[in-house]
Amino acid sequence: MQTRPHAIVIGSGFGGLAAAVRLSARGYRVTVLEKLDAPGGRAYVYRQDGFTFDAGPTIITAPYLLEELWTLCGRSMAQDIDLRRIDPFYEIRFDDGETLCCSGDLNVMRAEIERLAPGDLAGFERYIRDSEAIFDVAFAELADQPFHQLSTLVKAAPDMIRLQGYRNVWNKVSDYFRDHRLRVAFSFHPLLIGGNPLTTTAYYCLIAHLERLHGVHYAMGGMGALVQGLVGLAQSQGATVRCNATVEQILVTDGRASGVRLSSGERLDADVVVSNADVGWTYSRLLASHPRKRWTDRKLARTNWSMSLFVWYFGTRRRWENVRHHTMVLGPRYEGLLDDIFRKKQLAADFSLYLHRPTATDPSMAPEGCDSFYVLAPVPHLESGVDWTQQAERFRQSVEKRLADTVLPGLQDAIVTSHMVTPIDFQDRLLSYRGAAFSIEPQLFQSAWFRPHNRSEELEGLYLVGAGTHPGAGIPGVLSSARVIDQLIADRASSAA
Ligand SMILES: Cc1cc2nc3c(=O)[nH]c(=O)nc-3n(C[C@H](O)[C@H](O)[C@H](O)COP(=O)(O)OP(=O)(O)OC[C@H]3O[C@@H](n4cnc5c(N)ncnc54)[C@H](O)[C@@H]3O)c2cc1C
Repeated sequence: MQTRPHAIVIGSGFGGLAAAVRLSARGYRVTVLEKLDAPGGRAYVYRQDGFTFDAGPTIITAPYLLEELWTLCGRSMAQDIDLRRIDPFYEIRFDDGETLCCSGDLNVMRAEIERLAPGDLAGFERYIRDSEAIFDVAFAELADQPFHQLSTLVKAAPDMIRLQGYRNVWNKVSDYFRDHRLRVAFSFHPLLIGGNPLTTTAYYCLIAHLERLHGVHYAMGGMGALVQGLVGLAQSQGATVRCNATVEQILVTDGRASGVRLSSGERLDADVVVSNADVGWTYSRLLASHPRKRWTDRKLARTNWSMSLFVWYFGTRRRWENVRHHTMVLGPRYEGLLDDIFRKKQLAADFSLYLHRPTATDPSMAPEGCDSFYVLAPVPHLESGVDWTQQAERFRQSVEKRLADTVLPGLQDAIVTSHMVTPIDFQDRLLSYRGAAFSIEPQLFQSAWFRPHNRSEELEGLYLVGAGTHPGAGIPGVLSSARVIDQLIADRASSAA
């Protein structure tokens, strides 16, 4: 066992766990070091008063990327995970009280658009076609390409021009839809991975096709069940997952990553170090004393970081049977609100919300007869200067009132348990630069080659997985980043042999 090369993975988010599974399957002895008391990262699970709350991701959009990990270990995901397709995917409630039910069934979508804005039906058909064309290039061909060489970017450039990747999502979507509500409904997707629809490359129109092609899924028992499944899978290959183990420094010997030092002082040697910690943290803290060519503290400070989130988890003593598993409760403004969050970095009085009700699919997430919810609002990251220790409760009360006035009448009298997360938690608990919820914002000049590379450009033997590296945030993105480093490490091993 000890003769196998040792890989250390810093962090147990989906990117870290996928890297651990892949490297174990490749024959590495893998140790995952996680700061928190349980694995999962943003997919941590809060358990409180009989309720189970998935802290972060709720929507699984590319299950084949997960299935691939089980296949690598000679198993089937269905042996460990009960994955259910959710359709309709989600309901969007606009500020005027109208709703749009989004489904993978094109006929349902056509009927919904005909009901809401019949003049946009032809535009919808064109949008569907074009989002598939973008997906075929931007996701199917590029997501698992290593972008550490400029030549890869140059090769991808003609497609980028043809598919208008230089435009932003909002601008592109507005070519197809005249109804403002539909422009919102078909352009909000970048927010799911920390992007501003007004500035994110139109490549992210691919998400509409990704959802339809592979469906929207839920793991029974919640994301925690999926995290446990991945941990079990890694362990079955001999990997070790150590919680309450904070890495303080990546050790360097002869210009190569040679191990890590923990906050306890313990040192661990490694042949390969994979960081799933936030990229800003990895470079500014874990490599603080190592001279850096590209990701200097100055460059990190000038980088545009994604927005943060306010998340309120609450359990109720009753159920709202008519509320779907996923609902967007939109506010009165869209472009103005996005500008406040991303550019002006100010906390607005209005907000748009995403409401998660897992008990619509999985009653095990709450005591009998109860509902488990979380609601999130995109908010600026900590550069805003908002003092969340003062603002959080006031903000929560506004969110509660908005929900009670719209989709959850009577909410105030039904709450039995409650927990809040603010940008401070993203910074202090998850060690995320400026408390960004999705790491580096997915703008054109912060994507692919422009993003921190999967094979570190700062240090031999160091690899990056997770939201801040290529291809970016979201479960499909971070699983793809593990696919990229798996290939890079294999290539390196075979060229050394
Ligand atoms: C509220 C919310 C909802 C979301 N919803 C969805 C969704 O529905 N679908 C979707 O696909 N995506 C969603 N996302 C995005 C998705 O969850 C993330 O992009 C993805 O999970 C990030 O994974 P990661 O591999 O980057 O690791 P992370 O989840 O960021 O985990 C990194 C881990 O590293 C640990 N760590 C950091 N520093 C150290 C250190 N020095 N030593 C040891 N450990 C360290 C942290 O504690 C953490 O556990 C959501 C995100 C949030 C916040």
